[in-house]
Amino acid sequence: MKPEELLHPTPQGLYCPPGDFFIDPVAAVSRAIITHGHADHARAGHGAVIGTPETLAIMAARYGEAFTEAREPLAYRNKVDVNGVTVWLAPAGHVLGSAQAVIEHQGLRMVVTGDFKRRRDPTCEAFEVVPCDIFISEATFALPVFHHPHTAEEVRKLIDSLRQFPERAHLVGAYALGKAQRVICHLREEGYDEPIYIHGALQALCDLYREWGVDLGELRPATVKDDRGSKQDFAGKVIICPPSAVQTTWARRFPDPVTAFASGWMRVRQRAKQRGVELPLIISDHADWEELTRTVEDVDPRELWVTHGREDAFVRWAEINGRIARPLRLVGYEDENE
Ligand SMILES: [Zn+2]
Ligand SMILES: [Zn+2]
Repeated sequence: MKPEELLHPTPQGLYCPPGDFFIDPVAAVSRAIITHGHADHARAGHGAVIGTPETLAIMAARYGEAFTEAREPLAYRNKVDVNGVTVWLAPAGHVLGSAQAVIEHQGLRMVVTGDFKRRRDPTCEAFEVVPCDIFISEATFALPVFHHPHTAEEVRKLIDSLRQFPERAHLVGAYALGKAQRVICHLREEGYDEPIYIHGALQALCDLYREWGVDLGELRPATVKDDRGSKQDFAGKVIICPPSAVQTTWARRFPDPVTAFASGWMRVRQRAKQRGVELPLIISDHADWEELTRTVEDVDPRELWVTHGREDAFVRWAEINGRIARPLRLVGYEDENE
């Protein structure tokens, strides 16, 4: 069997004809494998969804219990037969429940990473190297210029700023699924044990992470009472909110906020400037260039296929290193806030 016969791109996403399922489809389909809960990968309305129990819980929290007609939970490393095709999930290290989809049929094994990273994340299982024939990788930060610094160093910048500006609130924009909880966990690891305040939009997912055993320490809602003076309650405090909330009137309730943004894109100074970010924190849930290229070497596939992001640089690197590689040019995946 040719690899293209087992998995190939279609307008709805990657499709497996013998198994009759899609992986992270961008349109409603009869059966989907969902790698993780981010909105560009996990959409509501599929007939059946195969995903880790964590990912199914995240989808239910975001879209409501009726997000699919049939949930087909699949714990890491358990195998399921889908119309004669063997499917299993391996940890991707991206967010809680994130998985690589492993597809096996007639002696051919293909692995779809979904989004992934290699560095340590206290909120989810670490990426697992699965040797395979065809490795289908994301390429969000696939340019040599992308090098993510140590997460602890970035988090210490925030802690230093709190010491330096005890009279100012510290408003940290962080994607609601994964990044927010990860920033909180790393703050705790660096010894920050004050209550952390969270925007209402983060409550449900922080509760869900806790239900799945991730310790976030004491969290409080970032609400201000109408009486005067309460604004000062947030002096020297950390408030985590969705990136979009930083520039809204909601943010004006806090005293002279230092605006921070936790994102891999903060490596690009221009992006930080455009957003008016005073304290850029380069914290990414995606592999950087070194992690991407090291992962291809670790997996050592016969062919590398590249799904979304900076496909050309990654494919070029592979070819220079004597590998067979091709861009898939999938559309509909946006990792702007990650
Ligand atoms: Zn993602
Ligand atoms: Zn993505």
